[in-house]
Amino acid sequence: STLSSATAKDPYPDWKAGDPVPYAALCTTFSKIEMTTKRLEIIALCSAFMRQVLRLTPNDLLPTVLLMIGKLAADYAGVELGIGESLIMKAIGETTGRSLKIIKEDQQKIGDLGLVAAKSRSNQPTMFKPKPLTVRGVHEGLMKIATTEGQGAQGRKVDGIKKLLSSADVGLAKGQAVDINKDKGGPSESKFIIRALEGKMRLGLADKNLQVALAHAVTAHAVAEDGKKVPSETELKKGEEVFKAVYNELPSYEVIVPALLKGGIWKLRDACKLQPGVPLKPMLAKPTKSIGEVLDRFEGKDFTCEYKYDGERAQIHFVAHDAGEDYASTTAPKEGKSDRGVSNIFSRNSEDLSKKYPDILAKLPSWVKPGTKSFVLDCETVAWDIEKKHVLPFQQLMTRKKKDVMVEDVKVKVCVFAFDILYLDGEALVNKPFRERREKMYAAFDEAEGEFSFAKFGNTREIEEIQTLLEESVKASCEGLMVKMLDGVESHYEPSRRSQNWLKVKKDYLAGAGDSLDLVVLGAYHGRGKRTSVYGAFLLACYNPSTEVYETVCNIGTGFSEALLAELHETLAPLVIDRPKPFYSHSSTKNDQPDVWFEPRFVWEVKTADLTLSPRYRAAASELGGDAAGHKGVSLRFPRLIRVREDKKVDEATTSRQVAEMYRAQAEQGKEKKVGVDDD
Ligand code: ATP
Repeated sequence: STLSSATAKDPYPDWKAGDPVPYAALCTTFSKIEMTTKRLEIIALCSAFMRQVLRLTPNDLLPTVLLMIGKLAADYAGVELGIGESLIMKAIGETTGRSLKIIKEDQQKIGDLGLVAAKSRSNQPTMFKPKPLTVRGVHEGLMKIATTEGQGAQGRKVDGIKKLLSSADVGLAKGQAVDINKDKGGPSESKFIIRALEGKMRLGLADKNLQVALAHAVTAHAVAEDGKKVPSETELKKGEEVFKAVYNELPSYEVIVPALLKGGIWKLRDACKLQPGVPLKPMLAKPTKSIGEVLDRFEGKDFTCEYKYDGERAQIHFVAHDAGEDYASTTAPKEGKSDRGVSNIFSRNSEDLSKKYPDILAKLPSWVKPGTKSFVLDCETVAWDIEKKHVLPFQQLMTRKKKDVMVEDVKVKVCVFAFDILYLDGEALVNKPFRERREKMYAAFDEAEGEFSFAKFGNTREIEEIQTLLEESVKASCEGLMVKMLDGVESHYEPSRRSQNWLKVKKDYLAGAGDSLDLVVLGAYHGRGKRTSVYGAFLLACYNPSTEVYETVCNIGTGFSEALLAELHETLAPLVIDRPKPFYSHSSTKNDQPDVWFEPRFVWEVKTADLTLSPRYRAAASELGGDAAGHKGVSLRFPRLIRVREDKKVDEATTSRQVAEMYRAQAEQGKEKKVGVDDD
């Protein structure tokens, strides 16, 4: 039960009040988490550990939380791990005095670099016992590795990894063999350091679970401070609700954890509110197959149909100098500083886009009405043809440089289309009806043709009018419509949710094809005939966030020009690894194996004719457990490349659950069609 987290004994008895949190203690917890797949047990283990941190070494709570989610900082800080295998192998070799060749052989056999590291170390005679690692020390060490840049960076990264590994306990007795099948149990520090470096902890500890665990820990702590032994179920639930509400508006442990330490959970709602400078996770939309489906969903409610612009999501944050408000991120780049105030542009995955769009930031003050002091605006940036005065296709936007753009050099002009406002003049608006938010947005800005506009919309319930709007949107180079609820709780902004209250109607769906998928490139096949010097086809996968596993879903060889194939060969060849990662799930049949495997780096958008089940792939196999016989996964038939998704990270690929939903929806549609035929 959820109560167990509050009553559990300290999981690590050797650590005393005021000691830095021992990394070994965290690894003991990790290895227990790894042994179970039960969600509540995972939450209880995490929560008990954080409770102990709160009691003994509260100042280490932040690095503890960050290492638990396998991150070093909030996404907007732009610090990323995901170190390639070759560097890690080099470091393991140098730390243990074994040759790279042997390390590679071990990796071929074992397939998990964490275990290779553990094995290498256990064979090594140790002269002296190194000083034990601390959570704070490991966090700092990893941070240094991640942020090392410039000349000789690779070498210095290897040195940083060596430093951590040489102090790490392997969790094996001297000479004890690594048992691949039993590997899960070992609280090996080197194993978890390697996993952190790879950017995949593989603990089954989803972010949502960690949030619940932290909420429970701080609630239990608060109750204990009031002299009560354990919190009630109601108190735990309340703590969870407070935490979630705050995290939704301010998804930053860097801000929330210090506030928790200062004022506890019951004061958190007042202490932490949506704040310009900290990007929210954007609200997302559900796909629909027809206007009829939209009308069914929103029956009797007022809704609005907006043009769906085809560009890049952009969340613009601004605080005027005279607003009397703090700008949360002190890191607003120079591009974001003007006479009027400070600003940032964030992407859909909270990365800072300010260096990509200095032209937008430079013009921004001219659209902000003089009385507007601070805001967070949800927008789409779209390539714009200044002569013909209209929207250009997405492909044009993709040709813009990503970094260090100079305003003078910008060739592809962009226009910002604003469709929502989440914060205005010191007040969060996410819990206000959309109708009201939209009115406020219109009142706070001035449109400027080709630079800043409000998204076009029509409020109608008539199917013919919606059809006309859809056609007009397509003529205006848009992808279709976004249909949104206007009033009541259902129209509130739901950060990070794919909501039923936002429906997307794309012109392509109406042609019967359905939504596209964003898939991760895991492997490739050598080309044949004219194409022998490049890869001719690729193995793609969706992502299962609850197991942190990439599940294969198709081979793809259509939609590539010769030039693109050459370019892809160049970018992918350096990412080749000797064998699939332990977190890749694919058929083990010999004939199904690709010629090469890659580090997971790239997301591609792919269209498909339809979905079937196949023993060759693994997508959504566990989701569909009941429907799919044995090991069959969903596979795409006749997949075709649409574009490379540079704005998505690999763990933001289409999820196994979404694939399962698409498969089921198609099966449903199939049935309807058949019924139709019978009626005839
Ligand atoms: P998703 O964001 O749903 O995962 P995706 O990134 O492939 O999928 P789409 O399915 O094309 O995006 O639709 C959602 C995106 O459409 C939003 O994230 C936003 O960038 C864009 N968009 C364009 N116009 C609007 C609008 N008027 N309202 C909301 N979003 C819009």
